[in-house]
Amino acid sequence: MKSIDDINFKGKKAIVRVDFNVPLNKDFEVTDRSRIEGAKPTIYKILEDGGSAILMSHLGRPKGFDDTFSLNHIVSTVSEVIGVRVKFVNNCIGEEVREAAKNLQDGELLLLENLRFHPEEKAGDEDFAKQLADLADVYVNDAFGTAHRAHASTTIAAKFAKEKAMGYLLKKEIDSLDKVLNSTDKPVTAIIGGAKVSSKITVIENVLDRIDHLIIGGGMAFTFIKAQGGQIGDSLVEEDKQDVALQILAAAKAKNVEVHLPVDSKVTQKFENDAETKFSPIHEIEDGWMGLDAGPKSQQIFADVINQSKIILWNGPLGVFEMSNFAEGTIAAGNAIADATANGAFSLVGGGDSVAAVKQYGFQDKVSYVSTGGGAMLEMLEGKTLPGVAALD
Ligand code: AMP
Repeated sequence: MKSIDDINFKGKKAIVRVDFNVPLNKDFEVTDRSRIEGAKPTIYKILEDGGSAILMSHLGRPKGFDDTFSLNHIVSTVSEVIGVRVKFVNNCIGEEVREAAKNLQDGELLLLENLRFHPEEKAGDEDFAKQLADLADVYVNDAFGTAHRAHASTTIAAKFAKEKAMGYLLKKEIDSLDKVLNSTDKPVTAIIGGAKVSSKITVIENVLDRIDHLIIGGGMAFTFIKAQGGQIGDSLVEEDKQDVALQILAAAKAKNVEVHLPVDSKVTQKFENDAETKFSPIHEIEDGWMGLDAGPKSQQIFADVINQSKIILWNGPLGVFEMSNFAEGTIAAGNAIADATANGAFSLVGGGDSVAAVKQYGFQDKVSYVSTGGGAMLEMLEGKTLPGVAALD
């Protein structure tokens, strides 16, 4: 699969699917520029080679043309971040767009209007996709966060491109996951937490062949504990997933994967930050009490495993981290991963809430890579091929 490193963009126009789905405040100012910053390396490469770039993205969930969701609001921020004055055209297809693209000179940047103003975008319409691809010589996809959707701009346009390649952001995501799942370095540890077993079954099944240690934490651990005959009080449980939990444990054993479940929990009677708490052995939680965080013994066990790991994958928090009194287990894991990373391990945090936890507690610069695409990363962890990636092949 080609990356943009394999292309010299001199004199070429590239149409780049970026993820500029950024948050705006009520004055339509961009409140978090990280997604724009993320696209910078790819844009620079194209411009520095001597080419020009046409940027396309969606913003929010508009139903037809709607100024609230216009990418016009972000033009000045993109210009500021990239350091080049960005041209804007208030549609993404049609005569005016073709004209603007045609007149684009080497070194220039053009931003198209919100792709989702047209229902054809999400429908993956071929004619719409072709019109996008035809604007340029090269199609580049750098929007990992939408690569699991077979939309016109993320997937179908590649089919009509004369030349196609993945951008640096997309490549970094794929390379990071490859490093975790296909590494020869050992031991490899996956930390899987979060609320529900049901949403992580496929992830666990897919990673079992590639890991040495599996840490199971968060709310989903209780389904395993109950399935083993433990008393979990009023903790979160998926009654109908107990069989699956036992099957996962059996499969792990058969594959020589060491499973580490919590041994204690911080329990409370109310789902509130200031509620009274105590620690309880995980198999003996009293009725009326629920476990909302990993206890100190579990934290230590998890940290010991993490510290001796060379490759670490983290998906899902180990407690209700949104409440500070139940964030210790998640923070302890974050600290252990940060230490292991400082000692040379490779760590990837990805898929949903663990990314939020990592950002909330300031670990993002202490791990090797934080994935930018929740749903897309989860699908890759499940072993699925993302349509946006497959389309570049
Ligand atoms: P997920 O989206 O499946 O990764 O789940 C993330 C959510 O799981 C977060 O909102 C956490 O608050 C929640 N969570 C983690 N541990 C527990 C727990 N012990 N009980 C209830 N919810 C939990």
